[in-house]
Amino acid sequence: MKAEIIAVGTELLLGQIVNTNAQYLSQQCAALGIDIYFQTVVGDNEGRLRQALDTARQRADLIICTGGLGPTKDDLTKDVLAAFTGKELIMHEPSLDKIKSMFRDRGLAMAESNARQALMLTDSDPLMNDNGLAVGVALTHEGTHYMLLPGPPREMKLMFDTYGTSWLSRLADGRGALYSRMLKFAGIGESALEKELLDLIEAQQDPTIAPYAKEGEVTVRLTTRAATEEEANSKLKPVEEEIRRRLGKHLYATKDKPIEQIIYEQLKERGMTLSAAESCTGGLISDLITSVPDSSSVFSGSIVSYTNAVKETILQVPAGLLEGPEAPGAISKESAEAMAGKVRELLGTDYALSVTGIAGPGSAEGKPVGLVYIGLAERGKPTTVVEGRYSGTRELIKLRAAKAALYLLWQ
Ligand code: ATP
Ligand code: MG
Repeated sequence: MKAEIIAVGTELLLGQIVNTNAQYLSQQCAALGIDIYFQTVVGDNEGRLRQALDTARQRADLIICTGGLGPTKDDLTKDVLAAFTGKELIMHEPSLDKIKSMFRDRGLAMAESNARQALMLTDSDPLMNDNGLAVGVALTHEGTHYMLLPGPPREMKLMFDTYGTSWLSRLADGRGALYSRMLKFAGIGESALEKELLDLIEAQQDPTIAPYAKEGEVTVRLTTRAATEEEANSKLKPVEEEIRRRLGKHLYATKDKPIEQIIYEQLKERGMTLSAAESCTGGLISDLITSVPDSSSVFSGSIVSYTNAVKETILQVPAGLLEGPEAPGAISKESAEAMAGKVRELLGTDYALSVTGIAGPGSAEGKPVGLVYIGLAERGKPTTVVEGRYSGTRELIKLRAAKAALYLLWQ
């Protein structure tokens, strides 16, 4: 089945919000074995939405729209689809009752426009909205399937996952579902990884091999279509094994888990603890690791030693190391080493990470933007330091450095 997603909303076109609905629906459809051929974005405009539907109808069997199911007059997706398919708008009584009782319970007067959210089309199936008021619509008309979902992601996801998918499963065309596997890599850049896999990528058919970099992580996604999970595994396994043979030492996860989650799990399993001394990452390592629930059982805390004064007074990095014509400077192997060693001692943890570098845009200490030193101190072992050179914006360099520090710990 070929499908198209139409995200409706002028806010999307203005760049005020990101089209996460399309991303989510694409992922879900892939898992259901539905091929998304196009994603379209159109504003809250009757004529242009109609045009988008008309185009989509010519190239898709299934059209999923999100947005524009609300009560206001710019919410016109149902009206447009009704006009487009020649259907009438009719009231879905259970949804209307729900809206009425919501207003009654809150002691609010219900505007007439609120009833619009309970509208569906003749011959359509309602899709319940357990997180909101607007009822969704599923309709098959002249061989094309249409699904109208609300814009707010919470409402859209729940509606699609619970009611949309079961409606779709009745339409499934029997070619099996898509299965994919994520391989996540550390300590290797996207281009180096691609080079290693170039022959496989160029010869790929089934499974497909898609490398991509996102937020400082490099991932390879293998995807195949199969009738059962078993069949999928037998197709994915040989390719995964070949990739492991080449890049196994960089492979840190086979699930879509961020590095901070993996680090948390590793430390937890070993009963070990971590602290950090952060300069150019400004607390980002701490932010990443503390986004994992229960991270307090493995992460003690960090010192954001942003200035030399803090490095010197709190972390006791020798002044002679930080300043002076002959000094290696704050952005140096020596400084990273001293920072990691001291913070581990101060906070009494098994491991400590340190980061010092230049996130840009200006250079410092006569050293280039993107130069970062990452220290790893470990109880009873000498502290190690690696040098990294990262590119990108200030934010990206910070993120890459923070993730690289976590990778170093993983390795
Ligand atoms: P409402 O009842 O809130 O008006 P609606 O179904 O009419 O819902 P919209 O008015 O189009 O939907 O969008 C409501 C909100 O949902 C937007 O302000 C935005 O925050 C979010 N939203 C809409 N479309 C998307 C999208 N494609 N991706 C992510 N968020 C979206
Ligand atoms: Mg709206």
